[in-house]
Amino acid sequence: MSGQASGITLDLDGELVQAEVVRSPRVRVARIQIGAQRPLRIIVPADTSDEDAADALRSKRSWIRDKLRLIERQETPRLGLDRPGVVWINGAAMQVIEGDVRFAREQDGVLVVPAGEQAAEALLRWYRRRAREYLRELVATEAKRLGCTFRRLAVRDQRTRWGSCAPTGTISLNWRLVIPPRSVARYVVVHELIHLSIPNHSKAFWRALSTALPDWEQAATWLSDHGHELRSYAPETRALRRRGTPTSAWGVDA
Ligand SMILES: [Zn+2]
Repeated sequence: MSGQASGITLDLDGELVQAEVVRSPRVRVARIQIGAQRPLRIIVPADTSDEDAADALRSKRSWIRDKLRLIERQETPRLGLDRPGVVWINGAAMQVIEGDVRFAREQDGVLVVPAGEQAAEALLRWYRRRAREYLRELVATEAKRLGCTFRRLAVRDQRTRWGSCAPTGTISLNWRLVIPPRSVARYVVVHELIHLSIPNHSKAFWRALSTALPDWEQAATWLSDHGHELRSYAPETRALRRRGTPTSAWGVDA
């Protein structure tokens, strides 16, 4: 692109955005370019002033903002939960191998699952059992700390929700909360526990949340960045390695 370039800073309803103005003798109508790893750029006829270029950009501000959001989301690093051969507990990977077992079970920090078609179901059962134990403990700990009482905890396979709270005092949580770091699950638990006494998202609710969990926003941001990947997670059982063949004459696994 030939021609004179300049940089301008735009205020799109309070959001400051840097844009590049490129002037070209071959351009008759202004053209806006936005892309990943590329600055926001407007290509304009050679005699266009910075102010006119800024006006042209401002007139498309909602389109520009939507585009920038989309790029930001797409550039958010993925967690890579679908990596084959591992399961995730509290933000850490655990190796999964096939072995001569009927149910999934942990042995020396490795998860051993039945071979073949049963692997996927065994893994899912194990995950949900792990999630129940973990979330039961987490809810009990937080309820005690905050001095609130709940009637029942249900751990469910919910595709769209992380947690919910019924007026009857039942708290439902998504089993996938066993996968991310504890701070993330803790945020969802505390959020629902506060709903027991404040069933809406009023100012009082957010105040109570900030008191109960001062750094809740970090966990909420983690969820909005990675929630989509976490929600669609299904353990990957293809390409599981089989436990090493016996190395001793007695047939004992190494
Ligand atoms: Zn809520």
